Amino acid sequence: MIDTYAVIGNPISHSKSPLIHSEFSKQTQQHIRYETILSPLNGFTTAIEIFRQGGGKGLNVTLPFKVEAYKISTQLTEQASSSHAVNTIVFDGDKIYGDNTDGTGLIRDITVNLRFAITAKRVLLCGAGGAARGIVLPLLKQNPLILTISNRTTQKAHELRKQFSSYKNIESGNYKDILGKEFDLIINATSTSLINKSLPLPQGIFSAKSLVYDLMYGNMNTPFLQFARKEGATHLSDGIGMLVEQAAESFFIWRGIRPETKPVIKMLRKKTQNDMRNK
Ligand code: NDP
Repeated sequence: MIDTYAVIGNPISHSKSPLIHSEFSKQTQQHIRYETILSPLNGFTTAIEIFRQGGGKGLNVTLPFKVEAYKISTQLTEQASSSHAVNTIVFDGDKIYGDNTDGTGLIRDITVNLRFAITAKRVLLCGAGGAARGIVLPLLKQNPLILTISNRTTQKAHELRKQFSSYKNIESGNYKDILGKEFDLIINATSTSLINKSLPLPQGIFSAKSLVYDLMYGNMNTPFLQFARKEGATHLSDGIGMLVEQAAESFFIWRGIRPETKPVIKMLRKKTQNDMRNK
């Protein structure tokens, strides 16, 4: 019997995961089936139970179920428990292993694909929502000089910082608090790019050498990236690399084989550009 995996979410038709995992399975000659599951908003537990009873081996979990997946997991990795969110599940009998590969995916994209060393750098993380929560620990593990979390709702930034109070190189606040500071790495982990809105970032936070990273994928012209360009930043990235790298990490957790990500990133970038042109 072929091992079956799936991505579960609501909505789900936009998901690139089936395409990415189909490329990974071809490349590694791992014959797996990868499905999509549209779960009712109030039916996540039932949907995954049906999948598990049918012999499903593992799941990718996307919006809005990452916190529910965290809650139903019987075993959690450090990364999943620190982010309070699960995006990768492995079923083993009655056990449900929950992991979160988003942060690892981002770090691999930045440090390996974009060849940017985070160690000893000044890092600004914009946002304190689900994605930001998954990124803080992997960023801190890279030993930045300072990690600054800025968020519209200041309290949420403070709460996120307090979770990592054993680290001394972390601070939090709102966007006004970063006036007069410059950063080497600026990450947009807010949902503003999805709704084509800009962030209230002060001028002067970017340098020509800064790496500016928007988690949103498939659009290099988000208001955030446009502002960075206007401010003189030249090293810009969207989140396609992170998307593929987090999927590769899930594939590795399930199959014990690490797929080549570069050709898949290239293929997906081309495809999203074509999709944008044909819109
Ligand atoms: P959440 O809804 O959990 O968090 C939203 C964040 O955006 C909060 O910090 C919120 O601030 C902030 N925000 C929303 N609107 C505004 C606004 N008008 N002005 C300022 N701040 C605002 O979303 P997620 O964390 O799940 O997702 C964030 C982004 O990350 C999305 O674009 C998503 O597509 C992307 N993503 C990409 C991945 C990839 O693999 N490339 C993986 C995961 C996510 P406040 O707290 O004040 O409301």
